[in-house]
Amino acid sequence: MTLHAELAAELADRDARGLRRRRRLLASPQRAHVAVDGRDYLAFCSNDYLGLAADPRLIAAARAGADLYGVGAGASHLVLGHGTAHHRLEEALAGFVGLPRALLFSTGYMANMGVISALAGRGDALFADRLNHASLNDAALLSRAAFRRYPHNDLAALERLLAATPARRRLVIVDAVFSMDGDIAAVPALLDLCARHDAYLLIDDAHGFGVLGAQGRGTPAHFGLASERLIYMATLGKAAGVSGAFVAGSETLIESLLQNARTYIYTTATPPLLAHALLTSLQIIQQEEWRRERLRELIRRLKQGLQDAPWRLLPSDTPIQPLLVGGNAEALALSARLAAQGLLVPAIRPPTVPQGTARLRISLSADHAMEDVDRLVAALREPA
Ligand SMILES: *Cc1c(COP(=O)(O)O)cnc(C)c1O
Repeated sequence: MTLHAELAAELADRDARGLRRRRRLLASPQRAHVAVDGRDYLAFCSNDYLGLAADPRLIAAARAGADLYGVGAGASHLVLGHGTAHHRLEEALAGFVGLPRALLFSTGYMANMGVISALAGRGDALFADRLNHASLNDAALLSRAAFRRYPHNDLAALERLLAATPARRRLVIVDAVFSMDGDIAAVPALLDLCARHDAYLLIDDAHGFGVLGAQGRGTPAHFGLASERLIYMATLGKAAGVSGAFVAGSETLIESLLQNARTYIYTTATPPLLAHALLTSLQIIQQEEWRRERLRELIRRLKQGLQDAPWRLLPSDTPIQPLLVGGNAEALALSARLAAQGLLVPAIRPPTVPQGTARLRISLSADHAMEDVDRLVAALREPA
């Protein structure tokens, strides 16, 4: 068989199992009401939790950033791509999350690849929740450290693994808010475990940064935590509404990443205009508490509305509200039925989530109105 025939057979198999992924074409900015494939929809698909992706102040800041710094960074950070805007943003981010220093990466995927492969290698051990984001798993494999996964939130299982490891350097890696379930990791208990077993804890706060904690300072602030054992990572393309990611921690940790993280070193710095826009985003995140209040109200409204609906919401207090459907075909059919009514909610299927737990991932944004949630609830309560 030729390569192309093999690939075609794999694609046909994917189709047959209801696992073919398709893209829709978004013609408007990312917001609650969008233009997609030639019609208007109300969407519950984005990670733009605070509704900042199309905020006029961020657009103006991006323009001003282009005027000040041009469009392309033109070089990697360690050559001559590290600009004033990147530098100020790193300082602002470190201050915001209450850690000594921060380092910017181009994406969250790259941050995880960079930090994990820089901190762990052969002979070290990584421990990971089974529901962690794919980028953490890929990073663990890249690192060549021993990689042990424990059942979701099963800290007793984690403790057994930690107690049994001969590795000297131990790193527990975990989503702070699980991206397909919306639940918050038990970070204080994880830190206790790490302290008892001389391990360090890397939390990926992609879905907590800007959303949880006082002023949106993230999951550590939500729990009132500070620890030498905590390494913090968050992304800037979700609640912050732009693009990028950062890792924050001690001066020594960050300097070491700057020297060793390959996804930091061997890539062009992101356009400085994005860093410039992110400085504005960070101010809005801090100042506009109403956006987080709105999210809390939307979450309450959705939960109330779906109390005795045919499908059940997974327990989550974050803007990620998954509606458990089960079968792949059923999840796709429900998503298609909603789309026919002008409502976009993505069906999430294996391998992104475990077999038999296909779901609609409803994600809420401060850009949604109460009536938007009511419309979704009404559609979901209609008999099929
Ligand atoms: C989205 C996400 C990432 C990847 O971040 P990008 O900036 O989109 O590359 C990493 N970890 C988690 C938990 C995420 O949800």
